[in-house]
Amino acid sequence: VDEHEQNGKWEGHSMFAPFTSGWQQTETEPLIVAMGEGVYVWDHRGKKYLDALAGLWCVSLGFNEQRLVNAANRQLTTLPFYHSFWNRTSQPPLDLAKALIELFTPVKLGKVFFCNSGSEANDTQVKLVWYYNNALGRTQKKKFISRLKSYHGSTLIAASLSGLTPLHQGFDLPVDFVLNTDCPNYWRYHLPNETEEEYSTRLAENLEKLILKEGPETIAAFIGEPLMGAGGVIPPPATYWDKIQSILKKYDILLIADEVICGFGRLGTMFGCEKYNIKPDLVTIAKALSSGYEPIAAVLIGQHIVDAVGTYSNGFGTFGHGFTYGGHPVSCAVSLETLRIYKERDILQHVNAVAPAFQKGMKELAKSPIVGEIRGEGLVLGIEFIGNKDTLESFPAEWAVGAYFGAQCQAIGMLVRIAGDIIMISPPLISTAAELQQIVKFAEAALKGTERYIVQ
Ligand code: PLP
Repeated sequence: VDEHEQNGKWEGHSMFAPFTSGWQQTETEPLIVAMGEGVYVWDHRGKKYLDALAGLWCVSLGFNEQRLVNAANRQLTTLPFYHSFWNRTSQPPLDLAKALIELFTPVKLGKVFFCNSGSEANDTQVKLVWYYNNALGRTQKKKFISRLKSYHGSTLIAASLSGLTPLHQGFDLPVDFVLNTDCPNYWRYHLPNETEEEYSTRLAENLEKLILKEGPETIAAFIGEPLMGAGGVIPPPATYWDKIQSILKKYDILLIADEVICGFGRLGTMFGCEKYNIKPDLVTIAKALSSGYEPIAAVLIGQHIVDAVGTYSNGFGTFGHGFTYGGHPVSCAVSLETLRIYKERDILQHVNAVAPAFQKGMKELAKSPIVGEIRGEGLVLGIEFIGNKDTLESFPAEWAVGAYFGAQCQAIGMLVRIAGDIIMISPPLISTAAELQQIVKFAEAALKGTERYIVQ
């Protein structure tokens, strides 16, 4: 773990602070968002902001998509709730499961398990993997491998799977069956003269060493985001996923793709797995599944997993796991409408049409002496500030450079994600070329202000 995480710079925000309690970590007043339209939101005092984070990487269709409101209303009027326990359910989760099985093409899926959040879905993944291994009599295969700086959620197990130390400190986490391997950040961690391919080979070798040290018979699964999101928007280096997958195959270790941020078009492909040729056994989805309008997440289960577990549990019939609101008919109806809109409006074509100019415009800002790297794919992007471009030494934590930049953005009317000295941008997928250019202009202005702040 490098000094980046150790010093707690990943945050310094109030993400986990309960409302109105003495635990509130920030002294500043919260931004109270009162309404939204398109890519914009307004605070309760009437100030307008371009939300360059789409809420929390999720509001892909913008803040006033009437079709989603209508879909929710229709379902609320017909059947506002039904659960999916025993042999009872409602029609929307059945239709949504079918639509997702058709939509996810990298592997053949067998079943879908609905949850309410990405964290819940990743907890479900762990139980499912254990259940699968128990079904096969592989009772020793229980450990999970995740990457440093990954983010998989905040519940006990999802936080343990996450490779960000602020999620563990003070919580007696991670649980002991989670192991960490390298964060695939080529820019920060490659050796002198090492190519991206060589770096990927080294990371795959490190993974293999970890597996052999622990004993392959004890390792159940590897979980990874196709492109790392909350840890700093880190696209995989060339050949990374090919090499990691071949090691996992060699030792019969399942692969869970956490598509919570990448899924549904953010990278210009429907799923990150398509972009990087990943063939997962299990997939986690959430966020843009409903464009953030209703809480929903899901575990997509490969057909081969369903087949293997089938005789053990009668096709998951006795998988003793579920949530009152899992497969909520309103969330599922809104998600179905979201998927229809993605298709009808050809959201992928739109992302691929507008993303190159946006990425190019933003990457121009890397010329700044205080910017180390600007990286991204499609409509997701990270800006990393650096104290020394040659040695990659960070700015002193107390300078709070990222927070300063973020505050500048907010002051001029743009919302971004601040994580230490990394800024993350993930605008609604419906953003027009002009709105994306506006993000570039705002970022440019905030950067000028931040440069002046550093010089002082
Ligand atoms: N996985 C990834 C990749 C995420 O980015 C997130 C949330 O940002 C989660 C899981 C957790 O999802 P949730 O906040 O819905 O529990």
